[in-house]
Amino acid sequence: MTHERSRDLYDRALSVLPGGVNSSVRAAPRPYPFFVERGDGAHVVDADGNRYVDYVMGYGPLLLGHDMPESVRSAVQSHASAGPMYGAPTEIEVDLAEFVARHVPGVEMLRFVNSGTEATVSAVRLARGYTGREKIVVMQGGYHGAQESTLVEGEPGNVHPSTRGIPESFAEHTIPVPFNDEEAVAEVFEAHGEEIAGVLVEPILGNTGIVQPIEGYHETLRDLCDEYGSLLVFDEVITGFRVGGLQCAQGKLGVTPDVTTFGKIVGGGFPVGAIGGETEIIESFTPSGDVFQAGTFSGHPVTMAAGLATLEFCAENDVYDHVNALGERMREGLVDIVADQCPGYTVVGTDSMFKVIFTRADSPPQDAGCTGGCSQDPDCVRFGECPKDGGDVGSAETDRWERLFWPAMRDQGVFLTANQFESQFVSYAHTEADIDETLEAYKEAL
Ligand SMILES: *Cc1c(COP(=O)(O)O)cnc(C)c1O
Repeated sequence: MTHERSRDLYDRALSVLPGGVNSSVRAAPRPYPFFVERGDGAHVVDADGNRYVDYVMGYGPLLLGHDMPESVRSAVQSHASAGPMYGAPTEIEVDLAEFVARHVPGVEMLRFVNSGTEATVSAVRLARGYTGREKIVVMQGGYHGAQESTLVEGEPGNVHPSTRGIPESFAEHTIPVPFNDEEAVAEVFEAHGEEIAGVLVEPILGNTGIVQPIEGYHETLRDLCDEYGSLLVFDEVITGFRVGGLQCAQGKLGVTPDVTTFGKIVGGGFPVGAIGGETEIIESFTPSGDVFQAGTFSGHPVTMAAGLATLEFCAENDVYDHVNALGERMREGLVDIVADQCPGYTVVGTDSMFKVIFTRADSPPQDAGCTGGCSQDPDCVRFGECPKDGGDVGSAETDRWERLFWPAMRDQGVFLTANQFESQFVSYAHTEADIDETLEAYKEAL
């Protein structure tokens, strides 16, 4: 496998793009990333003609793989050729909003934007505007995009921006707590409940893990928010229309948030975000309310058409059965391999998400209830040692994962997300044979 053309392209990119990329994580592979020329079903082909089975899937949006079904392709083409956008409302925005409101329990109404980041920025402003309060509770190791209010680190009472460029004073309004720690969040509410506008949480940590909630965790958040008049905001940018199918993770978990943020899949592969929720709350956005929100490209007709055609395709075909069964096959295979070769590691994931976390557990491998990936089963022998929050994932063998394991998988033609933290995805284009080949590659590389 040679990477000459990728090397030349990276050389050119370094002169005109900072770090050679337009999103940081893409530069993680050493010594340089491969450049993709095209997608093909479950595969990508790089600039040197190398072919990889792809589990990055655009970092989440490509539920159906790289080939658009005919209905999606023609919806995209007809909306693109009608003229890409107008600055006036179109029917297709209403169609997609109706579809989402019909399927997602917590959504009666929504505002479309252009990225997951924009969705969480607007959701935080909405929570503050609606409640008249300033503080936002987030999870340590949670990710809500490149936005000022949530790029923080530390613990309650000692919070700092996690990047240069954000004033210290911004971090004063954000309180990070460990995921799955009911006591920690209850204490924060006891101390600051009347000042908390909302809790912003991924139903499943998808960018640091994957970490599933322990039984009852989201119910606790729901109760605390109700008791103190704060909004529960689920960031379903990754889990939306992936976990739990069309009802999203909130439907699967049986906990209804006040506000939900979307991105990734809901745009069918095009730039998108959305903020949904109860009518009374979402109508706080201008022009119906007084929380300012606007966007030149928001509700872009090509994106709306791609999103709607994708979700309709999911409703009419066996998409979720297929991807979830393959996800299960992958996780079960990985649990066996890990038990054999590296019993301290933990296989995680649900539905079509999967990952092996290079944990340093010294108890026996995960068992019975967790053969399909860690489900936080209190009866599992590994319950006490499997990751419960972002910090537990951060203390895994992250360098071994990134520097030794990832390249060994790439060299066998398997494209995984670039570090220990980001979820991997099975798509509708993957087959059982792809999974089985990938498991063989894991056997070699682990
Ligand atoms: C990807 C992601 C975001 C950010 O979305 P962008 O479209 O990259 O801005 C926010 N929240 C979660 C949970 C995500 O996975």
